[in-house]
Parts: sequence; structure tokens; C-alpha cells
Amino acid sequence: MEIDQTLLIKEPGIGLICVREKTWEIRRRDTKVCGWIGLTASASGTVSGVANLKDVHGPYSTADLSAHEDLHRVPSEWLQDYAGDGELYAWEMSGARAFDEPVPYEHPQGAVIWVRLEPPIELCAGCGEPRHGIHLCDFPTSVILGVDE
Ligand SMILES: [Zn+2]
Repeated sequence: MEIDQTLLIKEPGIGLICVREKTWEIRRRDTKVCGWIGLTASASGTVSGVANLKDVHGPYSTADLSAHEDLHRVPSEWLQDYAGDGELYAWEMSGARAFDEPVPYEHPQGAVIWVRLEPPIELCAGCGEPRHGIHLCDFPTSVILGVDE
């Protein structure tokens, strides 16, 4: 599987998403994107995990969304500040997880929501981790353990 774009997310939201304590990422806009995406903490310059962007719900008023705090984990005052006079959307994430090691990428100037990853990050079919640099699954177990066959 290849990950060809990453979503910029602020702390503490990204941390909560990675441990699956937050499945709704709240945004002011709808998105047509769906499928597996990278997760990037704002200003980190790295992709720290992946999630399956399954669906977009909304638009919601802040009052509507306050009833779902267990899903998005955003206090209602923050929702109100963020929404202003507008409406909000919930981007539903499933299967999120953090990589063992974040993968650096080139951050284009001005990118604030999505970054297209060139080259894409290839995830190993065996372990699910990025194939970045030297990858353990590419070596026979005997090499990794240092034993003679
Ligand atoms: Zn692997």
C-alpha cells in the first residue's frame, strides 16, 4: 500500500487520533479525499502515522457537534472559536496508528491542510511499517539474529 498524501493536524488531536481515542477530525471544509492517508503533526516535517479517512459527516452546528465530544474530543468553546459563523464537518478516521519511526518529507511552503507525498510512502505488507531506508523484513531472520544457517 502506498500513502500519497498526508493531513496536517494539530496537537493534541493527532496524538488522540493515533491511539484511536478520537475518530472525528473537525474541519471547516468538506473533503472528497477518502482512503488511507498520512498523519502529520503541524510543523513536524514528518509523517507520524496513517489512518483510513472513511467518510465525512455534516455540516454541523457547534451545538450539534458538542453532543459528540466522545468522538472528536474537542471542548465546545474551542469548536465555537474555530467555527466562527460557519458550519463544521467531521472527517471520520478508522484504523489509525503511529509508525515506529516518523518518516521525514519535504514540506512545500504554504501547505496548511494536505501535502502530496512525492515519492509516496510505501507500507510493508508484512509489518505495516514504512519501507524507509533499511527495512528488517527485507532480510532473512538468520541475518537479523546473526546466526549461521
Ligand atoms: Zn516490514
